[in-house]
Amino acid sequence: RAKALGKGRYAIFDQEMYAQTIHLSQLETDLRLAIERQEFLLNYQPIVSLKTRQVIGFEVLLRWQHPLTGLISPGDFIAIAEDTGLIEPIGEWVLREACQQLRTWQTKFPHASSLHLSINLSIRQIQQFDFIEKLARILAETSLNGENLRLELTETMLMDQGDKTIELLTQIKEQKIQLSIDDFGTGYSSLSYLHRFPIDTLKIDRSFVSLINAEGENCEIVKTIITLAHSLGMKAIAEGVETPHQVTHLSKLGCEAAQGYFFSKPLNLQLAESIIATNPQW
Ligand code: C2E
Ligand code: MG
Ligand code: MG
Ligand code: MG
Repeated sequence: RAKALGKGRYAIFDQEMYAQTIHLSQLETDLRLAIERQEFLLNYQPIVSLKTRQVIGFEVLLRWQHPLTGLISPGDFIAIAEDTGLIEPIGEWVLREACQQLRTWQTKFPHASSLHLSINLSIRQIQQFDFIEKLARILAETSLNGENLRLELTETMLMDQGDKTIELLTQIKEQKIQLSIDDFGTGYSSLSYLHRFPIDTLKIDRSFVSLINAEGENCEIVKTIITLAHSLGMKAIAEGVETPHQVTHLSKLGCEAAQGYFFSKPLNLQLAESIIATNPQW
């Protein structure tokens, strides 16, 4: 196609490619320095029980405060972090920081001792031969009980690991940590395997939740996932809940919990603390 556009187009195309390469390698260089420069921070999105309408936990969402560009979302740097292997130290930082924060909250807010934090993992992290040891070390160092920790994996990550998956998940569960499948329904997963994995929660992807309209139409996929979760002894959490009628219909369908802009956007540390302190009911 580029050829058909004539010779001149090559030059423009190459320039764009060049600019993009510079941009990527600059981003990679910056990313390498970001940990020691302490440019990462965590945001916390409330997860609300649809029964009590109170916060039962938070999902931990990574942010990068870039010195020139400003706040960068994970969508714009996680892929580079994965390609370069930088996700390993970054992911370890997220785990340690989140565990420390949760431990601090447990001391500071005794009424919130059952609060959990849910942390996203990337495939590169769980592929590390010493991932389980690292996890155990972080829990020990932060004196955190695994019970209040939840790890989010995607379907594709679970299927990619083949026979090793069950062993890995079992070792995580031995530390009392809970396991969720993130973005459920969007990846490749085999139902014949799902029941063999020690998963606690299915997180229903936003793309299915957003189909639910005011009349409660288009609930079929969400309903199917909730039924599937329950028949496998798992719980369901709806992601990306934005409207009150979505809350109503999800409750009716027996979905245990939800998160999304209807309740709250991801919050900085200070705002998350004020939520814990005031314990609002939605
Ligand atoms: P995710 O785990 O599925 O997280 C949910 C994403 O949806 C978050 O985007 C959140 O801000 C956004 N969101 C929450 N509620 C709503 C809503 O009601 N409407 C809409 N439109 N969006 C909503 P975010 O923070 O940009 O994160 C994007 C993805 O980056 C995450 O998707 C997760 O896969 C990944 N990620 C975030 N933090 C980490 C991390 O520490 N490590 C790794 N490996 N991945 C991370
Ligand atoms: Mg997630
Ligand atoms: Mg998700
Ligand atoms: Mg998602």
